[in-house]
Amino acid sequence: MNVEIICTQCGMEAFLKREPVYDGFKKTGEELSCSACGAVFPSEENVPFKARERIPEIFTDADRPETPDIFIEGENRVICRYCASYVINPFMQFCGHHKKEIQATDTCSDFSLAPENPAPPVF
Ligand SMILES: [Zn+2]
Repeated sequence: MNVEIICTQCGMEAFLKREPVYDGFKKTGEELSCSACGAVFPSEENVPFKARERIPEIFTDADRPETPDIFIEGENRVICRYCASYVINPFMQFCGHHKKEIQATDTCSDFSLAPENPAPPVF
């Protein structure tokens, strides 16, 4: 398998050459060199391996939906997200009935369906 490098000597995208070094008949090490110009790298740490291309991080917190979209049809009947008391702001989700922080997926015995719900669950 070829290992890609960007040579510090010739600046080329090349491959790392590994050649065994012998002292007589005994292998004493490996010589690491550039396939393009033959520059020898003294050790593995000196090899200018080509960095793997990374997927740029284009998503930020602002791109995430405000509530996790993990609901399965039929399981979203009495969860706080659809309740009239459900309040959401940038910092927390809040139950206006119990005056406490809640999660959209919490369920509640005091659930009352929000009248303005854009997608009312089917009972
Ligand atoms: Zn080179």
